[in-house]
Amino acid sequence: MSDGKKTLLVTGGSRGIGAAICRQAIGAGYRVAVNYVSNQAAADALVAELKAAGGDAFAVKGDVGSEADVIAMFEAVDRAFRRLDAFVNNAGIVDLKARVDEMSAERLERMMRVNVVGSFLCAREAVKRMSTRHGGKGGAIVNISSAAARLGSPGEYVDYAASKGAIDTMTMGLAREVALEGIRVNAVSPGITETEIHASGGQPDRVARMQDLLPMKRAGTADEVASAVLYLLSDAASYITGAILNVSGGR
Ligand code: NAP
Repeated sequence: MSDGKKTLLVTGGSRGIGAAICRQAIGAGYRVAVNYVSNQAAADALVAELKAAGGDAFAVKGDVGSEADVIAMFEAVDRAFRRLDAFVNNAGIVDLKARVDEMSAERLERMMRVNVVGSFLCAREAVKRMSTRHGGKGGAIVNISSAAARLGSPGEYVDYAASKGAIDTMTMGLAREVALEGIRVNAVSPGITETEIHASGGQPDRVARMQDLLPMKRAGTADEVASAVLYLLSDAASYITGAILNVSGGR
């Protein structure tokens, strides 16, 4: 690819917030790699939509909680795009509502493997490609955290909240670690956002149930979160690194 277009990989890019990021990125002129883990139909449908809009995109399957999958995913991007300018650590899971005194080791290990270890492995691969220390040309990383990191999600999923606390800390540390290597690292911390993640956690009515408790009396949209991500990836945010931007309607 020699037309100078920037490239972006979004984990969990096929649905929800990730899909909104991919759509806006195509609009901003990026080539986009759309990662997913199991729902190939959703990934294929999004890629078809992005191509119909004149964009260059492809889907890449891989579980961010698997080191082999993460390495293969970044290698697929290397082959397709030959460069990586921007990366969004978006893939994340919740689990069924539970108290800490009910959580199994298996649940906790899955939560931390996908949300924390997965984000670290992907950040590692992105830094290896972007860092001037490794011969790269620099780049930008945005991690998707959650207001849960501040609120703790008592009675619902403290494990998830703690996994996002780790993402906030990783964002601050990695940002400083690579600040002289051409890479900016920031986080966007959404509040309750209308996506299918709530149904995945067994609470399809969560948005409707919670919205009256929110300062704006409504949940956010995936597009509202994506706008903040595209801003942090852009040169307009050239002096912003290590920031955690709340997109939570005041919550
Ligand atoms: P979503 O609608 O459930 O979509 C999840 C996406 O991640 C899908 O593309 C899914 O792929 C992919 N995915 C799930 N597990 C994966 C894995 N192990 N490896 C690779 N991809 C995986 O989720 P969302 O609501 O957009 O959430 C996106 C991010 O925002 C998450 O990090 C979440 O914690 C965070 N967040 C969401 C909210 C909210 O209220 N929605 C609030 C705060 C933070 P498949 O389609 O193949 O399953």
